[in-house]
Amino acid sequence: MKDHPSKEQTLVIIKPDGVQRTLIGEIIKRYERVGLKLVALKMTVPTKEMVEKHYTLDPEWRRITGEKRIKAAKEKGEVLDTEDPYEITEKVLRVLKEYMASGPVVLMVWQGAHAVSIVRKITGGTEPMSTDVGTIRGDLVLDSYSMSDDDGRAVRNLVHASGSVEEAQNEIEHWFSTNEIQNYRLVGEEILYDVNLDGILE
Ligand code: GDP
Ligand code: MG
Repeated sequence: MKDHPSKEQTLVIIKPDGVQRTLIGEIIKRYERVGLKLVALKMTVPTKEMVEKHYTLDPEWRRITGEKRIKAAKEKGEVLDTEDPYEITEKVLRVLKEYMASGPVVLMVWQGAHAVSIVRKITGGTEPMSTDVGTIRGDLVLDSYSMSDDDGRAVRNLVHASGSVEEAQNEIEHWFSTNEIQNYRLVGEEILYDVNLDGILE
C-alpha cells in the first residue's frame, strides 16, 4: 500500500555557516512552525568523501547544477569562463567539499505532508541574492553566484535541502542509520491530518 502523504521525509543540513552564524534555532523554528515533525537530528563534521558522495548520489546532479548556473548567468547578462555544465560543477564540487567539511553541520530528517517541496519552499533558491524574501536563504544571508565564483568558493546559503523524494531517500540513507530515525506521534499532528476532527469538543 502507498504511504500516506504525511509520512514523506526529507533531509536538511544546516551548513557550517548556519552553525557559525548561530542560526540553528531560527532555521529549525521555520521548519517546525509549518507543521513538519523532526524525526532525526545530529551534529557532525563531515569528511570530504561523505560530502562528495552526498552530492553525487544523483547521477544528474552535475548536469542540473551546471545548467542552473548557466541559466542564472544568462538572466543577469554575466559571461562565464565555460558553458560546459560539467566543467562548472567540477569546480563547484571542489569548493563545496571545502565548505561543507570546514566545521560542524547539523543533520536533520523532517517528516510531514509534501515534506520535500515544503522544505524547499521555506529554504528558497540556491542563490541568496536573487531568492525570495521570506525564505531562509532570502532572509538570513546575502551571498551571490558572481561573488562566490570570483572568490573561488561555494555559495554560502546556510542549508541543504533534498531536491526530490528519491534524492531525499538516498540522502537520508547516506547520513543516518534506521535506528537513528524516530517513529513517534506528535499530538499536534491531529489538527493537520485527522479526517473527522471528532476529538476536540468535550
Ligand atoms: P541547492 O540544491 O539549492 O543547494 O543547489 P545545488 O544542489 O545545485 O548545489 C549545491 C550547492 O553548491 C549550493 O547550495 C551552493 O552552496 C553550491 N553551488 C551550486 N552552484 C554553484 C555555483 O555555480 N557557484 C558556486 N560558487 N557555488 C555553487
Ligand atoms: Mg541540490
